[in-house]
Amino acid sequence: MLGSGSAGNSALIATNHCKILIDGGLSARQLVLRLEQCGVTPDKLDGVLLTHEHGDHVCGLEVLCRKFAVPIYCNALTAEAIRNDGCLNEHRNWRIFHTGAEFCICDIVVQTFPVPHDAVDPVGFAFHAGTRALGFITDLGYATKMLTERLREVHTLVIETNHDEKLLQNDPHRPWPVKQRIQSRHGHLSNTAAAIVIEQLLRGKIERVVLGHLSRDCNTPELALGAVRALLEKCDKTGMEVYCATQFEVSPRFCLGETKPGPFQSTFENVFFQTAAGSL
Ligand SMILES: [Zn+2]
Ligand SMILES: [Zn+2]
Repeated sequence: MLGSGSAGNSALIATNHCKILIDGGLSARQLVLRLEQCGVTPDKLDGVLLTHEHGDHVCGLEVLCRKFAVPIYCNALTAEAIRNDGCLNEHRNWRIFHTGAEFCICDIVVQTFPVPHDAVDPVGFAFHAGTRALGFITDLGYATKMLTERLREVHTLVIETNHDEKLLQNDPHRPWPVKQRIQSRHGHLSNTAAAIVIEQLLRGKIERVVLGHLSRDCNTPELALGAVRALLEKCDKTGMEVYCATQFEVSPRFCLGETKPGPFQSTFENVFFQTAAGSL
């Protein structure tokens, strides 16, 4: 996790062959600096994969992609929304997928699925490489049945624990409609709601949980970790690794497993993607 919180989100997923940025919601400068801490220069990125168009997920990309022509992978509505905001209009390297599609970037198989959130076409991801898998869901109001099905196979899950319900209700700075939006079925997961999603996955292959997208004012890592640990205790799963990502620093590197050496084939260009240059 390069950084995660209500003010900006970005993560790096890598194998020996492939480096993908998930969202670019930190300043370009921070993205470059934090990638550097992971030993990656931006020109080595195989792509940026977008969950949705909100600023805390895309704000650094205009500058980053002007300097480095990194392909952006997202669905058509998300690309359109970003360009309608006057962002990335010069960018030509779009790779458009359909929500629900499964495709490869180098040796990583990417599964996409819709998540309920107040964006044009927000998605979550499951990444498969070798025999291991990673689930990635931030910015969602609730977990759909399909989403939990898709995540049963993952060993590591990145999930948002956006707010503590009490802190949000008592927050003097947020007007009522904003609180309503955050708590709605198209808003964000509270600590408790995230714990319930994790509980549903305990019968699957899950071994590690990484919490993220914490609200600055309405949550703390202690509260988020506390809610999830309480659940794990209740379910007799205290051995599970839980980590809370923050806004301000790069998380430790989470090693998911080994990928097999050997040939791989990227499928996106011919099968699921068309370059959207000029047509958006
Ligand atoms: Zn967000
Ligand atoms: Zn969002």
